[in-house]
Amino acid sequence: MPLEKTEAVILKSFNWSESSRTIHFFTREYGRISLIDKGGRRIASRRGRLLPFTRLEVTFYQSKKESAGYISDTTALETFSLDGDGELGRLAYASAACELLFMLLPEQEANPSLFGYFLSFLGKNSSTEKRFLPAVFVTFFMRLLSGLGFHPSVSFCSGCGKKSEEIEKSGSRILFSPERGGLICAACQKPGEYYIQLSGESTRLLGTLQRASLGEAETLPIGYEEATVLIEVLTKFLKYHSGMKSDLKSLEFLEKLKKSQFNI
Ligand SMILES: [Zn+2]
Repeated sequence: MPLEKTEAVILKSFNWSESSRTIHFFTREYGRISLIDKGGRRIASRRGRLLPFTRLEVTFYQSKKESAGYISDTTALETFSLDGDGELGRLAYASAACELLFMLLPEQEANPSLFGYFLSFLGKNSSTEKRFLPAVFVTFFMRLLSGLGFHPSVSFCSGCGKKSEEIEKSGSRILFSPERGGLICAACQKPGEYYIQLSGESTRLLGTLQRASLGEAETLPIGYEEATVLIEVLTKFLKYHSGMKSDLKSLEFLEKLKKSQFNI
């Protein structure tokens, strides 16, 4: 059986016996793939450890009789440390990024540019100052959406194309429709439709972050409260357009921490 080798980051793993598990990876060459890690949970397992939030080199083989492949060996190439100031926030955002990729990436479709962007995100999420963490995550979230064909209209009315600044200047409420995929001006509103109301500041931030690089996001200190509003808008939009059923578990964890007054 020929061995294949690829760079990969773990997205999720499912244990199905005391010693074995299935691991879902985002890989540079094959996109999202799942591989069986037979015996890998044993402490005495001889091959390299499978660490989360780490750029790994994974060697695997595809069995002809079965659909899933098997891990042969792994080497850690680069670990994105989550230690230090804002550790729990870093962990929550890195976990949420993995959760999103697991839910949204099609299986076995290579997307090397998105893989590279994901590695850049993990790097920034590890190294940036705590106050820039929310902006870095929201920027990643918006770029991921656009890269996969879900592009919320946050600078223009999605009905008539009116600019967000003009909607704000006209004095009417700024509303976002998850169903119609963007902002809706007063003239395009329909009775009975569900909207999320946004402040002028939130709307401007969404527009800025949608165009920002991860490096530019590192200059925008937005608070966790503001970030929560933006993430809620994006998650509701995504639920409507991708069929994603639940909220992001990793971010619920962040909310719980905040509610318990824990210093993140
Ligand atoms: Zn309109």
